[in-house]
Amino acid sequence: MDRDSRLKLAVQKSGRLTDPSLDLLARCGLKLARGKDQLVGYGENLPLDVLFVRDDDIPDLVQEDVCDLGLVGLNVIEEKRLALAARGIEASFETLRLLDFGRCRLSIAIPEGQSWSGVSALAGRRIATTYPHLLGQFLARHGVRADIVTLSGAVEIAPRLGRADAICDLVSTGSTLAANHLEEVQTVLESHAVLIRTPVALGAVKSDWVERLLMRIEGVQQVRESKYIMLHAPRAALPEIRRLLPGSESPTIIPLEGHPDKVAIHAVCRENVFWETLEGLKRAGASALLVLPVEKMLA
Ligand code: ATP
Ligand code: ZN
Repeated sequence: MDRDSRLKLAVQKSGRLTDPSLDLLARCGLKLARGKDQLVGYGENLPLDVLFVRDDDIPDLVQEDVCDLGLVGLNVIEEKRLALAARGIEASFETLRLLDFGRCRLSIAIPEGQSWSGVSALAGRRIATTYPHLLGQFLARHGVRADIVTLSGAVEIAPRLGRADAICDLVSTGSTLAANHLEEVQTVLESHAVLIRTPVALGAVKSDWVERLLMRIEGVQQVRESKYIMLHAPRAALPEIRRLLPGSESPTIIPLEGHPDKVAIHAVCRENVFWETLEGLKRAGASALLVLPVEKMLA
């Protein structure tokens, strides 16, 4: 297969998105052979190669059509979009799919113990961030004028160093904030990883593979929480049992040989099945309960 019919996908080289991105690709069936330089991973069984780069470079690589696709945080994409707009350039990467990993939020935090009366309290204050455009847009929307201190990292120590009164940074658990005696007071952007694609039209072969990849991603995301559940139940308990089965549309109901008053129920539950649910089903008359993980799903 010639080089031009292979998709190039940019993935963060080393960071929070690396493992979940590679895990998603593996679940989509991709076997990667990492080259000696480790910068490119060759798809052994699919016409898709992975370029390992810094996450901040991914929007440009896709926008400039060096890569066809990219896996990156919405926070990076939106900051880039605004940065380009500030230079009069319209961002043209296209978001293909929201992904279920890389969840975090861009939030404003202030030193612990300080009172917070709302966004207007930031007027005239210095706010340290690595996301000046997103913060600027947020402040403008709230009609607040503050001093944005743009840093390239270690934002959380800026208040202690006397460089800022507040920060605007990514938070997931909040433990970094707590360790730095900061308190989250306002969300600026909810973020998660996204799959983006080049604005340039792809040839038929590549387009077809993008479609297939999207379908597989859809399947992978659907099965993450899904379970296949099997059980026996008295016919009379069917309505109650169907009500208790979490997120299942139409269960299969099978007669049980030799037990006219009983049926077997098989259902795909689109939510995790917890012990509480099983106990509830048992109380409703179910027996022989079996819960299995779902490996692949294609609607
Ligand atoms: P690089 O060297 O590639 O520039 P980085 O230091 O900018 O790495 P990471 O800290 O690995 O990036 O974060 C990558 C992405 O992970 C973020 O842009 C964000 O989308 C997501 N993320 C999820 N949770 C968090 C969090 N608690 N803090 C920072 N980023 C998070
Ligand atoms: Zn980065």
